[in-house]
Parts: sequence; C-alpha cells; structure tokens
Amino acid sequence: MPYTLTRHPFTPAVRQLRLGARTVLASAEGEYRDGRTASTEHYARLRLVASRPGELAGFIAPGGGDHVRIVVGSAEGGPVVLDDDGHPRGESRTETVVAHDVTEGWIDVDVLVHGAAGAEAGVIGAWAARAPLGSPGVMMGPKGSVVLDGSPGEVVIAGDDSALPAVRRYLGMLGSSITGHLLLETRFDLASLGIEPPAGLRLSILNPDAAHPSAALVSALQALPAPTDAAERFVFACGEQSIVAPVRQVLAAWGIDVERAVVKGYWKR
Ligand SMILES: Cc1cc2nc3c(=O)[nH]c(=O)nc-3n(C[C@H](O)[C@H](O)[C@H](O)COP(=O)(O)OP(=O)(O)OC[C@H]3O[C@@H](n4cnc5c(N)ncnc54)[C@H](O)[C@@H]3O)c2cc1C
Repeated sequence: MPYTLTRHPFTPAVRQLRLGARTVLASAEGEYRDGRTASTEHYARLRLVASRPGELAGFIAPGGGDHVRIVVGSAEGGPVVLDDDGHPRGESRTETVVAHDVTEGWIDVDVLVHGAAGAEAGVIGAWAARAPLGSPGVMMGPKGSVVLDGSPGEVVIAGDDSALPAVRRYLGMLGSSITGHLLLETRFDLASLGIEPPAGLRLSILNPDAAHPSAALVSALQALPAPTDAAERFVFACGEQSIVAPVRQVLAAWGIDVERAVVKGYWKR
C-alpha cells in the first residue's frame, strides 16, 4: 500500500524540566575498524520531569523521529541561564523523544555518552552521565512532526548509534510484518536497547569506523537494489552529517523524492 509522509509544524514552546531519573541501558567498548582508536560509549535513558504541574501541557510527538532541543547547565548540573524572554542561553542538543506522558509530566530521551566514567565528552553527554538528579534542563520543541501514514510495501532503515532511538520508534510504528532492509552502524547490543528487528527485515550490522563515520552506511545503501516500485519504498537514513549528500543521490537514482524520505545529519564529526 502507498504511504504518505506529512510534515506538521508546531508552535514553539519552552519548558522547564528537571532530571528525574537516569538508567544506563547498554555499553559498547572496543576498537574501531581502523585499529587505532579505542572507545567507550554507553546509552543512558534520562527521564526529564516537569518542574511544575502542567509544564508539558500541549506536548505531542507523534512522528517516529520527532525530537526536542535541550539546554542544560554544567555537566555537574548547574543552572540554565535564561534571557529576558525566558529563552535559555547556551548550546542546545537535539534528542529524539523516546516516550512521554503529559498527565504525569515526564519525557524520556536516550542519550549516547562518549568517554570513560568521569571523563565523558560533550554537553548533553557529560550531563547525562554526571548531573545529579534534580538538575534543571530546558526543553524546546518539537518544532514539528514528520508523520508516516499507511503501510509502505518495503522499507530501508539505516542509522548509526545516534539514530538508534529513532530507528526503534520507527520499527515500533511499522509493525512486525514489515519487509526490507535494516542497516545499522553500531557496536551496541540491539536487544539491550530494546530493538527487536522484525523477521522480514534483512539486518546488516556494520562496524563503525571513527575516521569515516557513516561511510559504511553509505556503501551499504549504495549497494542495495533499486525498488521495483519507488512509491512503495520508505527510506530513513540518519547518521553523521556526511551521510546526507550521498543518500540523496541514492534516492534520486531510485526515483524517490527526498520529501518522501527522512535523511538527516544527526551530528558532525
Ligand atoms: C533530529 C536529531 C535527533 C537526534 N537524536 C538523538 C538521540 O536520540 N540520542 C542521541 O544520543 N543523539 C541524538 N542526536 C544527536 C545529538 O543532537 C548530539 O549530537 C549528541 O547527543 C552529542 O551531543 P554531546 O553534547 O554529547 O556531544 P558534542 O558536544 O556534540 O560532541 C562531543 C564530541 O563527540 C563527538 N560525537 C558526537 N556525536 C557522536 C557520535 N554519534 N559518534 C561519535 N562521535 C560523536 C563530536 O564530534 C565531538 O567530538 C540527534 C540529532 C538530531 C539532529
């Protein structure tokens, strides 16, 4: 059956939250394929709770890849400075909405944390690992939602570690009878992240290469056969920024309008 992908803009909202709970879901350690760089990473699920009743009123995130921007204070959980309009100062990081409950006043995000314990890198990564429970954070968005309706005849879902939360949501929405290809550039154990690939998806696990992130995803996508009916193939391909241009070329070669696909750079090397 054909599918539609509709982009719905939302009114911007700024919400004050606090770190309510942290759960380490999975760790991945090892050498990259280039044999030079050892890495330690883990995925932490953060429950962000409303700082006052009603703070999440009106919040929705119906699309598989719907995401919010989060501003935090220091890694040790300092305050978030607001400007005169109540907007947070400081760098934001974009995270996929994993789950939420407006009535109970919480939202879950899964954050990929790089670096060994006590030396975690990044803004949200270090905060996700070290900030004390109760630390403040400010959430903006979602700015909009990309909603997939109908059942694509087949899918190509491709993502790196940072895209695993969105991949999990899409798989949940697509259902167990979906067919196609699932390409993941990851060292994480999928089950510990709650990812259960449907039997009809041909799964390829690709080894991350720190020197060329997402390059394995691009090669694997380029090697896939063109669809028999371009209108029936839904493509999600997200990873490091360098994934975007070559995947757009693949879509063009397959006759798929980029507006009917989700192709995004989730981070920049
Ligand atoms: C639409 C969208 C949805 C996203 N959803 C998620 C999500 O659900 N969970 C999630 O963890 N991230 C997600 N990201 C990526 C996220 O925005 C941040 O890039 C990520 O959380 C890293 O932020 P940081 O502050 O920890 O590190 P940064 O300060 O941004 O970077 C610190 C260092 O780590 C490197 N780095 C950053 N990301 C990676 C990576 N994936 N692999 C290897 N090195 C990296 C950087 O190059 C830099 O050297 C999403 C991005 C977008 C655009």
